[in-house]
Amino acid sequence: MQNSKSLFNLLVLLPLFVFNACGQSSNKQTTTTKTIAMENVINKPENPYYSNTDTKKINISDAEWKKVLSPDLYAVARHADTERAFTGTMYKQDDKGTYYCAACGYRLFKSDQKFSSSCGWPSFFEQDNKESITFKADNSYGMQRTEALCGRCGSHLGHLFDDGPAPTGKRYCMNAVSLDFVPDNVSTKSNGHLETIVLGGGCYWCVEAVYENLEGITKVVSGFSGGFVANPSYEEVCTGRTGHAEVVQITYDKTKTNLDEIFKVFFTVHDPTTLNRQGADVGTQYRSVIFYKNEEQKKTAESIINELNSKNVYISKVVTTLEPFKAFYPAEDFHQNYYNNNKNKPYCQMVIQPKIEKFEKIFKDRLKKK
Ligand code: FE
Repeated sequence: MQNSKSLFNLLVLLPLFVFNACGQSSNKQTTTTKTIAMENVINKPENPYYSNTDTKKINISDAEWKKVLSPDLYAVARHADTERAFTGTMYKQDDKGTYYCAACGYRLFKSDQKFSSSCGWPSFFEQDNKESITFKADNSYGMQRTEALCGRCGSHLGHLFDDGPAPTGKRYCMNAVSLDFVPDNVSTKSNGHLETIVLGGGCYWCVEAVYENLEGITKVVSGFSGGFVANPSYEEVCTGRTGHAEVVQITYDKTKTNLDEIFKVFFTVHDPTTLNRQGADVGTQYRSVIFYKNEEQKKTAESIINELNSKNVYISKVVTTLEPFKAFYPAEDFHQNYYNNNKNKPYCQMVIQPKIEKFEKIFKDRLKKK
């Protein structure tokens, strides 16, 4: 398939099919194209001070922090609140990766500096480098403790104790809410003709059901990507606090389909102009996002998005984010192959079925033989 021909078809077809996201009418509002900080491993559009690469100190008002942080993080980071022990999964997590300040993105620890502690908070015996964390005497609650603060933004992280393991004997007892975790890159090498790409276009039940029918797609798995919590549950992702998006991981045979076609389907079955929203589904977990695994995927996606914007195919600019792939976590079994297993449910009949019918009409020559 030639790029120009397929994009031409895309441009002709798109206006007919961008108004239904998960079957619900979406408000066509003017949106601005989001600036993507490609060097960042985590993007937090709501927090302009967040950066995984900028080391310049941050000194802003408490009111400003309150605006850009979630209430839980604000309470801990800016008012030294302590989260309940055994909150989340980070305290027992031993995945390889890097821990960053959740308030500002500053690098704090590597996973090999973490140790298993029974205290119920993520614990480390050493900080990433001498600038990562600073300390202050804390005499609150009638105790003499050493408070640990982010070296860049001064946010409260937790406390430092002298009962840690060798070689340092230190225990950095951290609040999980104050930390972002990014797993080390998993292998993204291609396997012969097969490659994978991870796409988020709102409700994954809908996106999965469509790609299942496209020729050349060998596997579709619903799950989560783009966040900082390992093995999140659906309920955790629904809170909007894990950084994850609902996504599908698509395995495709490059001899039978290609990225142009996959993106053409993607931009046909969801609305890429509503920031952090598909129809009634609102939140960063419903953001329109392409997690690219190699330069080809990134360049192809950039090219199509640029063309869609320059030709004003949509009323508003495309806000689909391009994010480097880090990890994919499959959703629970209940969410897999949802449409095929629940065809009689109202959601499937009213929301997913119309999308499939539209897809089948446009791509009628590209459907799997049944
Ligand atoms: Fe910080």
